[in-house]
Amino acid sequence: MIEFKNVSKQYENNLALDKLNLTIPTQDFFVLVGPSGSGKTTTLKMLNRLIEPTDGNIYFDDKRIIDYDLKQLRLQMGYVLQNIALFPNLNIQENIAIQAESLGWPRKDRIARARHLLSQVDLDPDQYATRMPSELSGGEQQRVGIIRALAIKPKVVLMDEPFSALDPISRKQLQDLVLRLHRELDMTFIFVTHDMHEALRLGQHIAVMRLGHIQQIGTGEEIMQHPANDFVRGFFQNEYTPQPATIQTLLDAGYGQATTATATLAADAPISELAAALKQATPVVVTTPQGPRALSTPDLLDYLAAKEAD
Ligand code: ADP
Repeated sequence: MIEFKNVSKQYENNLALDKLNLTIPTQDFFVLVGPSGSGKTTTLKMLNRLIEPTDGNIYFDDKRIIDYDLKQLRLQMGYVLQNIALFPNLNIQENIAIQAESLGWPRKDRIARARHLLSQVDLDPDQYATRMPSELSGGEQQRVGIIRALAIKPKVVLMDEPFSALDPISRKQLQDLVLRLHRELDMTFIFVTHDMHEALRLGQHIAVMRLGHIQQIGTGEEIMQHPANDFVRGFFQNEYTPQPATIQTLLDAGYGQATTATATLAADAPISELAAALKQATPVVVTTPQGPRALSTPDLLDYLAAKEAD
């Protein structure tokens, strides 16, 4: 179990974390989610002591992490970064086995472990083990980055936005992969993301953060059904319920002619209302802060076509 007790981090004049209290159960898949600057990375990096708190204590299996030998602590905390940065001059199996090598594992065991892990993430060891990192795609490199962090069987795996540089398809595949690895391995996964979708997809427990404070901790379902405050509700809704585009977006895109005719619709009405009105008569006149504007069927069609092409 990991516990943060009143942990604060002050950077010069910036309080990045303010008396954080957090419990992460052993073998949980725990996600820290929040907008940029909310303190997620700072929280994560305190666990392997890349960042030290200015106040409070963090406990790992009931012992303060400052009381661990630093090297021992880091061996128990695998670390996966966004830019995985494999060593370019080492082949894939050497990259995976690098920590095992520094621990003095015999070569035979290191290679066997690397090959086993490669096959666990569907990279055929006969094909991949001796390739160089530059011969792998971004998604494949990221798979290697993940198994490298698992190679010496840490108790905890820390992941800091590991998929944010990937295209949506690779990202989905890797999300599935970490879910599977989490099920198969007896490890605690702690995952940082700014993406609520990713948090809900992955997390058994989710902590929603904002400006150095935790807003809510719970399962995805609890957070979805009972958001603790307006911030959580807003964060969740913006991510989840795409707001219907309004007629204003069309006007903002430059469509519409000034007119003196009487308006029948407001600019904040959804575009679907404009479409319905255009079926009756074209153009449709809309009230805007700049005066009435006439929108025609071709305006709507051009706008939709341009949006589709984006
Ligand atoms: P997140 O991961 O949620 O984007 P961070 O933990 O990276 O947030 O940052 C939290 C706050 O601390 C931000 O306001 C950030 O600008 C600030 N911060 C992070 N690292 C440093 C640093 N080394 N020096 C000064 N301020 C920092």
